[in-house]
Amino acid sequence: MKKRIGPDGIHFFDRYTGLNILVDEVLPLENEWSQAPRQISIALTNVCDLHCDFCYAPKVKASLQLDQLKKWIKELDQLGTLGIGFGGGEPTLYPHFLKICEYTANETDLAVTFTTHGHRLTDTLLSHLKGNVHFIRISVDGVGTTYERFRGRKFSKLMERVERARNISSLGFNVVINDSTIQDLDQVTEIARKCDISEVLLLPQQATQNVKGLSKDSYEKIKKWIAGYSGETRLTISDIGLESNFICNPLSIETGLNAYAHIDALGFLKASSYSNIGQKIGDKSILDALQLLKECK
Ligand code: SF4
Repeated sequence: MKKRIGPDGIHFFDRYTGLNILVDEVLPLENEWSQAPRQISIALTNVCDLHCDFCYAPKVKASLQLDQLKKWIKELDQLGTLGIGFGGGEPTLYPHFLKICEYTANETDLAVTFTTHGHRLTDTLLSHLKGNVHFIRISVDGVGTTYERFRGRKFSKLMERVERARNISSLGFNVVINDSTIQDLDQVTEIARKCDISEVLLLPQQATQNVKGLSKDSYEKIKKWIAGYSGETRLTISDIGLESNFICNPLSIETGLNAYAHIDALGFLKASSYSNIGQKIGDKSILDALQLLKECK
């Protein structure tokens, strides 16, 4: 298990099972805390072959350089980060996608996860990923025609890919919550249960050039739905746009840049993928970039 020291205690994490253990009987001193964020998301590329209205990925064409990426990942591992989530754009379109998953899984102790629309998870790609990825998040915004309207792809084809991907990794469903998808949540969580999906992540829709953020009505509905949820699949929620006292956060002191940061496809370190403030990493160490970012905030 990988060990991380933080303000909430000593955190052990097993990337193979997803097990987290927090030893909080003694609170470590600040100078003992792990220096890098607990989790990092990395947009490998901005390129994507779908055109979802609610997509907030920057439309400027950009991809990260493999050598630089490896260096940053190695440093993050040594500084105590527990997991890397690759995204985009569509991360499977990154030319070095297999190489970076393989490198991270074999040359570091980091958990390797990625978020994908799922339609490029061919049997060949999945066979190469086997053993080099610990968790795959697949976007499932509603079912049937709701899904097809947003993603422009067949829902039945997506489900085929979900079935195949289950054979190589634990899976999660990511659901963008808006006025339409909220109606399908019971069906999405039922499919998650049947497919033995580990987690459903709810992502309240953020405003883009094409869509508005989560409506007030849906905000109230999602709070009610969560409160009444009694399904078997674990629910998690993006903390952007939804404040609720029923969200359980066992690491309540380790927040902000100590908990999470994002590297975009242009190589800027940011507090989140939505943030406009970033620090170009370039040849700097991640630690130096992190320090500069903290000073800008
Ligand atoms: S699949 Fe993801 S990255 Fe691609 S357009 Fe849709 S939301 Fe954006």
